[in-house]
Amino acid sequence: MAEQRPVCGVCGTTAESDDAPLTWSTQLGRRGVELVCDRCTRENVRAIEGKLESEWW
Ligand SMILES: [Zn+2]
Repeated sequence: MAEQRPVCGVCGTTAESDDAPLTWSTQLGRRGVELVCDRCTRENVRAIEGKLESEWW
């Protein structure tokens, strides 16, 4: 079985476990749903929320 660990779609870092940590989040990217690591989530949370709001509402 090839290991396919979650990879952050923003910075490209790989999760330390096979499952995405709870601190990770997802966002809609050009290729669909992308995983975002906790670090990028903190940095982009406002942008993500603003994006969702503008796109969904
Ligand atoms: Zn990241």
